[in-house]
Amino acid sequence: MVGAELAVHTCPEAFRNTCDQARRDGHRVGLVPTMGSLHEGHVALIAEAGRHATFVAVSIFVNPTQFGPGEDFAAYPRMLDRDRVTCTRAGASCLFAPSAAEMYPQGESTRVRVEKLSETLCGVSRPKHFEGVATVVAKLLILAGPCVAVFGRKDYQQLRVVERMVGDLLLPVEVIGHPTVREPDGLAMSSRNAYLSLEHRARAAHIPVALSEAVGAFESGQRDASTVRDLVRARIERVVDSIDYVELADPATLEPYGESAVIGDRVLLALAVRIGPARLIDNVVLGEDRAPCGEDANDRR
Ligand code: AMP
Repeated sequence: MVGAELAVHTCPEAFRNTCDQARRDGHRVGLVPTMGSLHEGHVALIAEAGRHATFVAVSIFVNPTQFGPGEDFAAYPRMLDRDRVTCTRAGASCLFAPSAAEMYPQGESTRVRVEKLSETLCGVSRPKHFEGVATVVAKLLILAGPCVAVFGRKDYQQLRVVERMVGDLLLPVEVIGHPTVREPDGLAMSSRNAYLSLEHRARAAHIPVALSEAVGAFESGQRDASTVRDLVRARIERVVDSIDYVELADPATLEPYGESAVIGDRVLLALAVRIGPARLIDNVVLGEDRAPCGEDANDRR
């Protein structure tokens, strides 16, 4: 259905019917869940879905249950008109943009919680975040009934939580993780980058530099967890307002390595920092991902 007119739904029932009809018409349905304010990272996910499906649905929903008290739910950028154009250009077939009242009917009291994977890294400072994510993604998968759903590796922990949930609930969908799409200087694209002033943005550019230095150290044989972590912290601590965490963790269990740990040949390096009003996250899998900085990181994966 690439090139056909974009169907836009706000009503879950209508969205379900459209996806049902697409399947009856012989399409493979793909789903790309987002919170909107779409950028090139989202466009890459939609394109990836189009390589695995003939009918690509994009959801845009700023999900209240994944924001904690004092987080940026109210301020989160919302630009549905522009996003609709982006979805059409990216080749999506259907856009689902429900209201919170439709996704969480009055009296609702059901949550999906993925234990362990939700509790480390971002889960330490955002204790209910992944419960909100798992709950809304489960709802979206049940509504759309896709063959494939595409998520970004930029939100590495989210990808792992969704994969676990899909496996545990026996949901018949293939979850695809797409590499992080970066700005020319290596900063991971994010809707939250819109919060950054020019001065904040210049400071944020140190994040991919720090990750690239860690990739370099790892490729030169460095396997001491504390040394790699300290190297990243040293690069960013003077430019960020605060560090939530810098961790080396097992890429499957997301269990952080302790102080004197010797790391293996494939290790997740993940961080979360605050610069001005933005909480930014980024990661690389050492032993797998290329350095975020350098000539065209997006082409060198
Ligand atoms: P969001 O709208 O930020 O909730 O993100 C929706 C989806 O897009 C999630 O699967 C994210 O991991 C993914 N995504 C966001 N930014 C990027 C990026 N820079 N590169 C790849 N995927 C991304």
